[in-house]
Amino acid sequence: METTALNYPKYFRIAIKEAKGSTIVDVDGNVFLDWVAGIAVMNLGHNNPLVRRAVERQLDSVWHALEVPTEVRVEFLKKFKETLSFDPKVLFTTTGADACEAAVKVARWKTRRRKVIAFEGAYHGITAGTLGLTFESEYKRFTQFYDDMVVRVPYPYTFRCDHQDCLNHTLEAVAEAVRLNIDDVAAIMVEPILGEGGYVVPPEGFLRGLREIADRWDLVMIVDEVQTGVGRTGKVWAHQWENITPDIMCASKAIGSGIPMSLVAYRKDLVELPRAFHLGTYRGNPLGLAAGKAVLDGLTEELLERVRTVGERLRTRFQEINEEVADGKMDVRGKGFMIGFELVRDEKRPWPEGTVAMIGALLKRGVLMYKCGIHSNVLRFMAPLTTPEGLLDRGLDAFASALREVLS
Ligand code: PMP
Repeated sequence: METTALNYPKYFRIAIKEAKGSTIVDVDGNVFLDWVAGIAVMNLGHNNPLVRRAVERQLDSVWHALEVPTEVRVEFLKKFKETLSFDPKVLFTTTGADACEAAVKVARWKTRRRKVIAFEGAYHGITAGTLGLTFESEYKRFTQFYDDMVVRVPYPYTFRCDHQDCLNHTLEAVAEAVRLNIDDVAAIMVEPILGEGGYVVPPEGFLRGLREIADRWDLVMIVDEVQTGVGRTGKVWAHQWENITPDIMCASKAIGSGIPMSLVAYRKDLVELPRAFHLGTYRGNPLGLAAGKAVLDGLTEELLERVRTVGERLRTRFQEINEEVADGKMDVRGKGFMIGFELVRDEKRPWPEGTVAMIGALLKRGVLMYKCGIHSNVLRFMAPLTTPEGLLDRGLDAFASALREVLS
């Protein structure tokens, strides 16, 4: 273990033996409820039989095929297109950051301009090509060498916004940033809900407002659905809550259900890309495509409806716990199975120490839960969308008990 640079084991001092559905078993036989899901990757649960069978079938035919058409590639693309409101062209990539880099490349090629409007709290990866776009606090110290192509604007973080009308204030700031940089802005890049930045849900109308700004100044609108996508919020893609059509969309994480796979989908009429515009040996890997097709098949309207209704119930319960245990001081927000619980002291002072203590107190009670946020003080619920309600209730009881302990 010491030979690699590790991050998560600092908080989860366990070694995993196996994972099934919504639980994880460690090498000592302890069973944990998984509210991390590999950072919103295992949306259909660990070892999902549908996904497993699809990958196994693919293992019997071809594992690696570059971009030469395969049956699985055709099938995936057909299914994927059905999930979108626009007719896409697709560039396959391998990771979330790879997809975000490629999306920016497409926007720059189309506009022949360089800068990207990106948000406070954004996370689009930490490769050299995405680090400038990323803001999340822990990584901010690495971004200084990569900032020159990025114009940073506020995200409508209503819990921490000083302005009466947070939405309009933010949209005005975006419009002003565009105006000041108009000669060189290519794109606006946005997460429909901030992921690493704190599970911040913007007010209704935010994406529509950005769409209008992009249209007014002929900019490319890039929606990063790496964390919000694949049913996590109760729609296949979170931007569909606002009925907007992005010019480019990035997807990764849950689309491969644990098999590395990502993509950029751009509007067919946006731009004609030259040959070899974006390459990568492993992109469009058949095993990932098989998993992706099965995942999209598994995202039935029934499951999405479950995510919306059960998600609403969960959010209400988190809020009740907030009232009962913490006098309503914390902030609870979310959509579907993407719920944030922001821990604060008096006057909304961020409480990162309490957040780390909660991770430990939950671990002791058999629940894996991780944090995020620009102040590292938001606990995020990102369990598999298939988690049975009984297990969710058990986790909520553990959450209430852990919060009581940490606040005592
Ligand atoms: N975009 C978003 C919204 C993300 O949440 C992440 C990862 N947390 C990324 C991009 C980067 O993905 P990857 O870690 O696969 O590079």
